[in-house]
Amino acid sequence: MTYDTIIIGSGLGGLVAGAKLAKEGRSVLLVEQHSSTGGYATCFTQNNFTIDAGFHSMDGLYIQDPKIKVFEDLDVYLNIEFLKIPTGYLRFTNERIDFRLPDTIEKATKALIQQFPKEEKGIVSFFKILKNVSSSKWKDKTAGDMLDSLFNNDDIKLILTGTIQYYGDDPYTVSALAFATALSRNFEGGNHYIRGGSMKLTDYFANLIKEHGGKTVLNKKVTKIHLDAFETVTGVEYVSTKNDETITTQVDAKNVILNASVPQAAFELLPENETTIMLRESVKHMKLGHSVLNIYLGFNTTLEKLGHIDYLTVVNDKSVIRLSDIFSNNNGGYSRKNFLFIDYGQIESGMAPFGKSTGVISTVDYIENWDKLSKEEYATKKKEVETVFIERLNKLIPDVKSHIEYVSVATPMTMKRYTLNPKGSTIGFARTPPQVGMYPLKSPIKNLYFSSTWSIPDGGFTSIITAGWNSAVAILRKRR
Ligand SMILES: Cc1cc2nc3c(=O)[nH]c(=O)nc-3n(C[C@H](O)[C@H](O)[C@H](O)COP(=O)(O)OP(=O)(O)OC[C@H]3O[C@@H](n4cnc5c(N)ncnc54)[C@H](O)[C@@H]3O)c2cc1C
Repeated sequence: MTYDTIIIGSGLGGLVAGAKLAKEGRSVLLVEQHSSTGGYATCFTQNNFTIDAGFHSMDGLYIQDPKIKVFEDLDVYLNIEFLKIPTGYLRFTNERIDFRLPDTIEKATKALIQQFPKEEKGIVSFFKILKNVSSSKWKDKTAGDMLDSLFNNDDIKLILTGTIQYYGDDPYTVSALAFATALSRNFEGGNHYIRGGSMKLTDYFANLIKEHGGKTVLNKKVTKIHLDAFETVTGVEYVSTKNDETITTQVDAKNVILNASVPQAAFELLPENETTIMLRESVKHMKLGHSVLNIYLGFNTTLEKLGHIDYLTVVNDKSVIRLSDIFSNNNGGYSRKNFLFIDYGQIESGMAPFGKSTGVISTVDYIENWDKLSKEEYATKKKEVETVFIERLNKLIPDVKSHIEYVSVATPMTMKRYTLNPKGSTIGFARTPPQVGMYPLKSPIKNLYFSSTWSIPDGGFTSIITAGWNSAVAILRKRR
């Protein structure tokens, strides 16, 4: 059988593309190397706690939000419940300042002016930029350049880059456009969680594919993308990841959507020819994004009972005084690294048994901190890092330590294992101004479409859902 489209990888980009194509009557085969679908948009259950592996909140859901049309077309609203996060955008604390940033432009402007009256002009200009982020003025600039041009006070700059790990590891290398585009959606529509976790959305799209006759194969890793003599895609080859089977399966298709990383396609999946050598050359020179370390927690209480009232808290170390300190902080020891803490118990997330709750500590990390360790060293270091961060969380929320019922640590090695993303990158290629200028990355191979974090200028659910949709629409628009 020749499929209309084979999709390599079941991250959100692959799932949305597959759901749209299947719904439009195209034959779809989704091939996933892991034992479940979703990529980073997945959950796991341990000790009756359902843990979201990599989802804190989804921005947008306002009238110009590009994913609205996708959700309407695929009936997402009828099937998935979005919970508005009621506690504003974030709480920022660094021992000098403790500040809550609301999630609308009006309220955020007011709160920032009240805290930093001398920065009023810059605050107003900043939100004007967020409303019109396409301005070419910022094309070659970094987030750090943008904030330096608007503000004198260092703490306001640190607050506004509090969630920098969503975009990069250094405000002076993250593109001002990528930063402002992503941030603008947080203040336009606020932030939302999915009742039951990101897995609900993943399962919904996976079921849509099935309902419309599409097929998904799990534990199968695509090892080759086949091309004909005209460098046009003809199908893929995959092997089982479950056992040592060496049997390869070949499947033909008119189109292939790549939801796996672009470096993997360039260096491992595509055959060598003039075009792919050029692709390899350009990919070789691109900088990869950072990874993260996550500590997943299950509590035997809701943290509200301990006086905690914030959904997203940014904890900066007091040694971080200026934006220029962030990169070295990210590359420093775990006892001082800035981190985020998400308290899922602040909403009716449906992730924990009644009266209990879940949370996650998340910090920038790099695979180089982990990949040379022996098995024993790796386990010991994980335990040490866990202890360090739990102590630091206990400082933020006194006595939280004694309420922890479940804990597990995911390192950049874990990120890599579950997604095959090089170096466990959570943002694909680094979002530097020159690299963002190259996006969306288009495949140079006929009938091969790129649809992952690796091909779009800013990451996160909104962008990847839109990218998956765009790949499907491009295929549907072609003459049969
Ligand atoms: C810790 C963390 C927190 C995050 N928090 C948020 C958040 O709060 N809000 C938000 O909007 N975004 C968040 N993100 C980002 C968001 O989760 C990702 O941008 C998005 O899920 C990426 O989707 P993707 O389609 O690019 O693919 P990925 O999730 O990278 O999935 C790729 C899939 O391809 C599969 N694959 C790879 N190679 C092969 C192969 N050869 N054969 C078969 N299958 C293959 C992988 O197994 C994987 O399932 C977070 C990410 C992380 C890691």
